[in-house]
Amino acid sequence: MALYVQKFGGTSVGSLDRIQNVAKRVGKTRAQGHDVIVVVSAMSGETDRLLGLGKNLSQRPAEREMDVLVASGEQVSAALTCIALNEMGIKAISLLGHQARIETDNVFTKARITRVDDQRVRKALADGFVVVVAGFQGMDSEGNITTLGRGGSDTSAVAIAAATKADVCEIYTDVEGVFTADPNVCPSARKVDRICYEEMLELAALGAKVLQIRSVELAMKYAVPIHVRSTFSDAEGTMVTGEDEALESVVVAGVTSDKKAAKVTVRNVPDQPGVCAGIFEPLAEANVTVDMIIQNVATDGSTDLTFTVSRDDLQRMRDLADGLVKKVGASEVTIDDDVVKVSIVGLGMRSHAGVAAKMFRLLADEGINIEAISTSEIKTSCLIRAKYAELAVRVLHDGFGLGLAR
Ligand code: ADP
Ligand code: ASP
Ligand code: MG
Repeated sequence: MALYVQKFGGTSVGSLDRIQNVAKRVGKTRAQGHDVIVVVSAMSGETDRLLGLGKNLSQRPAEREMDVLVASGEQVSAALTCIALNEMGIKAISLLGHQARIETDNVFTKARITRVDDQRVRKALADGFVVVVAGFQGMDSEGNITTLGRGGSDTSAVAIAAATKADVCEIYTDVEGVFTADPNVCPSARKVDRICYEEMLELAALGAKVLQIRSVELAMKYAVPIHVRSTFSDAEGTMVTGEDEALESVVVAGVTSDKKAAKVTVRNVPDQPGVCAGIFEPLAEANVTVDMIIQNVATDGSTDLTFTVSRDDLQRMRDLADGLVKKVGASEVTIDDDVVKVSIVGLGMRSHAGVAAKMFRLLADEGINIEAISTSEIKTSCLIRAKYAELAVRVLHDGFGLGLAR
């Protein structure tokens, strides 16, 4: 007998029919004699609908209240899933984040899980229940409801799998696994059978929303094997595991695009010590996540500083802009959110020269201008105009030969 954590995303629980389908799948695993912890997302579109309600009332709704609001989506699907399981004669109990004792910090809307106390979940399993946990939500040390950031149910699932030492964490979604590029953007994208945590971490960080980045971080830390697979078929999906077990060793493993970046330029910044700290410290204090940073060579004692922030943090960035200009003596801050970051990712890039150059050439041949670049050992990212996002993904994917069987 094994312990399965099975997480079902928004599409998988998007209608009552689909919830019945989830119940059947869980029932099948149960019938094989296994214990099952189910983690559910809100029904598809529900989180956006709830966010819209709050934002229609206020430009800056209290984040604590937004978390109370959006957490309701997962509460509904957890209860419905239990009702469907009960109807099939399967004992099931729903637990909200605080009931499953998913403890987090107090950063509302993007809280981090600090600890999972699995006693209640274990007790329910021992009593013969399928435990259905509402994903995406937890509780801070004062008992406030928190949420884990968009896509956070993946992280709920992996955290519970780690805490309960589950044999596998299955992520059921609307595609058949992890592909070499988003299959909804790139028709020649190919499903990979295995991928290592490191590559998956980069893909997730750079826009492959099939897994939330924090879920991959946790899986890597606690060595939780993840199986990403389709909710609509029994086909084997993608195993996300340690590097040794990952079979495919290639230069470029995948291509992503991330529409969540916005470009910020601080103009005419004095070229002197302390200016960068003066700009980035207040951003860090306000929890604004900064990514690519470019500082030009100074002419006449001043320079422009360009960086990208997450669009989720744009309101906070705007709120800080005037203060920054005054503080560092810059002339203005401009914000441009008509950009997208395209990236290539692969462990093999560590030991291959010329990969970035090839990426720049492929983009140039399509007339796509590169506005910022960032690199690490295993990825290269370019910021480009948003309208080229899909073209760039396809060109890079096919240019690096990712669609071909290897
Ligand atoms: P869920 O609601 O099940 O959590 P998501 O919408 O969060 O599903 O994630 C699945 C989606 O991720 C797919 O529909 C696909 O469009 C997108 N995606 C982006 N990049 C990739 C990739 N490399 N492999 C698979 N899916 C990807
Ligand atoms: N419902 C949340 C979202 O849409 C969490 C999730 O689906 O993982 O982001
Ligand atoms: Mg998701």
